[in-house]
Amino acid sequence: MTAKTALVVGAGIIGACLSYRLARAGMHVTILDAAGPHRGASGGSWAWLNAISAQEKSYFDLRQASLAAYHELEQELSGRLKIDWTGALVWDLNTYSAKSDSPVQKSWGSNARIVNADEMRALEPMLTSPPDGAIYSADDGLVDGAQATQTLIDAAQAIGARGAFGRRALSLLSEDNRIAGVKTDFGDLHADVTILAAGTGTSDLLVPFDITLPTSNRAGLLITTAPITKRLTRALWTDSVHIKQLADGRLVIGENDHAPGALDDPEATIAHMIETTQKMLPALGVLTVEKTTIATRPIPGDGYPVIGAIPTLDDAYIAMMHSGFTLAAITARLLTQEILTDELSPLLTPYRLSRFAA
Ligand SMILES: Cc1cc2nc3c(=O)[nH]c(=O)nc-3n(C[C@H](O)[C@H](O)[C@H](O)COP(=O)(O)OP(=O)(O)OC[C@H]3O[C@@H](n4cnc5c(N)ncnc54)[C@H](O)[C@@H]3O)c2cc1C
Repeated sequence: MTAKTALVVGAGIIGACLSYRLARAGMHVTILDAAGPHRGASGGSWAWLNAISAQEKSYFDLRQASLAAYHELEQELSGRLKIDWTGALVWDLNTYSAKSDSPVQKSWGSNARIVNADEMRALEPMLTSPPDGAIYSADDGLVDGAQATQTLIDAAQAIGARGAFGRRALSLLSEDNRIAGVKTDFGDLHADVTILAAGTGTSDLLVPFDITLPTSNRAGLLITTAPITKRLTRALWTDSVHIKQLADGRLVIGENDHAPGALDDPEATIAHMIETTQKMLPALGVLTVEKTTIATRPIPGDGYPVIGAIPTLDDAYIAMMHSGFTLAAITARLLTQEILTDELSPLLTPYRLSRFAA
């Protein structure tokens, strides 16, 4: 059977990108979300697009391929998708150490390099007391998570995708030995293929089929400040907080690792994050908190993405991952090809759900 209708469960960045790609490939797409677009992790994401956090070649390749896929997506959408390809300065040596500038990553094709304090000051003059050195990853992109997700939902809807927002998928609809859609709180929805892109809600939908998707989901708090004069160009991943400035002047600040219990006392955490940022970047002036979000990262148990057909469930697919912003463009492209052609992409071989069955 050639699939003609697709039901995408989840309107975060993964579901949004995938709906756009499927609709562009000529499928009749319905995108379902219990809450609405970007109400899950995608609306509370720092949304840095990078390859340098990969520690294995296959994962690095997937992430690099996604950056390339984003460049194509930008062109297709004629400026509607706004990505700042301004790069990142990273000096959290616990997380990133020298690996991003290592001969290993260089041999994979990484452009990241070590810069000294003087170069850092030249790149980001607001850094009055930079550390001795950092990794400069010039090819990285930054997006506004909610805005980018909405742009892709709009683009999908403009070419025929239908939104079903405020409707929860209660369970997968099993008919004639295949998955035929989902049961929702407003009745059943049928489709030739059903794709689970429901973030932290994905694993629950697999439970009735005895399919295990271990998770290590993790919450994170982000602060958005009131707009200030635009003075930061690159993403800064410091040894404690990460900071970027949006085109409208707002700063978006996260903590690299929340201390135990930090999210039980958000006010203290927010005060600490603002104080740390102001100490590091005093020339930015006084920062006023405009908004805080706490969102949970959907993370498969081993930290790597899960993408592809769901074994034992005909006509059902899954796309659940951390670094979903980085990976959305390539996930959408490759999964759409697999759905349309049944040909498996070698880039996705390490990321099948079947690895958890062993
Ligand atoms: C604080 C933080 C910082 C991050 N920083 C980065 C970063 O810098 N770079 C990066 O690449 N990634 C980052 N991530 C991770 C990235 O944001 C996520 O991987 C990505 O947003 C996941 O997108 P998604 O579409 O899979 O899930 P979500 O955005 O969570 O969307 C899933 C949607 O499914 C819906 N849903 C769930 N269950 C059901 C159901 N049963 N029926 C109907 N709808 C349902 C939800 O309402 C939700 O809207 C960060 C995440 C967080 C929280």
